[in-house]
Amino acid sequence: MSYQIVGSAIYKCTKCGAKHYLHREDFEFNAQSGSERQMGAETQYVAEFDEPCHNCDQDIHLEFEVWEYPAGIINYTNEQSEGAEILDSSFEIEQERDEDDGVIEAVKLAKPLLQFRFDKFSEQFVDFWISRYRKDAKTTTVVSIVSILIAAVVLGFSIYNSEQARKSNQEKTQDFKEQYVLLRATQENLTDLENFILSKKQEISATQDLLNKLQEQKAEIEPIVAANQEVVDALFAQQRKEMEKGLWFERGISFALGVLASLIASVIWHFVGRFRKRGDEK
Ligand SMILES: [Zn+2]
Repeated sequence: MSYQIVGSAIYKCTKCGAKHYLHREDFEFNAQSGSERQMGAETQYVAEFDEPCHNCDQDIHLEFEVWEYPAGIINYTNEQSEGAEILDSSFEIEQERDEDDGVIEAVKLAKPLLQFRFDKFSEQFVDFWISRYRKDAKTTTVVSIVSILIAAVVLGFSIYNSEQARKSNQEKTQDFKEQYVLLRATQENLTDLENFILSKKQEISATQDLLNKLQEQKAEIEPIVAANQEVVDALFAQQRKEMEKGLWFERGISFALGVLASLIASVIWHFVGRFRKRGDEK
């Protein structure tokens, strides 16, 4: 960290009265003299301007003095002018952060963290903090306290959050259990239904097989029947004829037997008649 004196000023040309303005980028203070005092170094800084009036070209010379004591604090200012009247001026010391320095320090701190070397990180952090404290005790203390407070709040908040998350997870688990049971029951029902459908399918398939077989048999028989219809008819007719023939034969036999029986009966009748006549004649 280094210090930089910044400021602004307004001055008026003594000849034409034109106002001029000096901004922070216009000043370039150089250390002129220094001495060691009770609270450290006292330094005198001087910025000089030699620029003619923009309006009337009058020569103007300005000289600004800033006394820094103790370090970082403006103790005293002084100004001199020729050809112009200084209307207003103000100066302050800015602590100019060396940005490279900050980046290097941050990298130095982050490296052991990334390597999980917490002992090294702690050591470097303490070094860093002490160096900051030496440079600016008040700011470092305030920043540290604020950081600790923020860290505490963040920690508390994250603990609270994780606790909430844990609770809600428990509730969710409960939900999951119920859902699991429900799904399980549904699955069982579906399995039953599936089994029922499967068994019905099998029944249908068996019936279908039977029908198919019958149809096949029918298909097998059909051509035979169709092709031999005449033969079958002839067969039946022949059978019928045979049967009719047999019928007539039987009838003939019956008739013949009847005739024979009548003959025998009449013969027996005649024999009986003769024997009775002979008995009467005697
Ligand atoms: Zn002028």
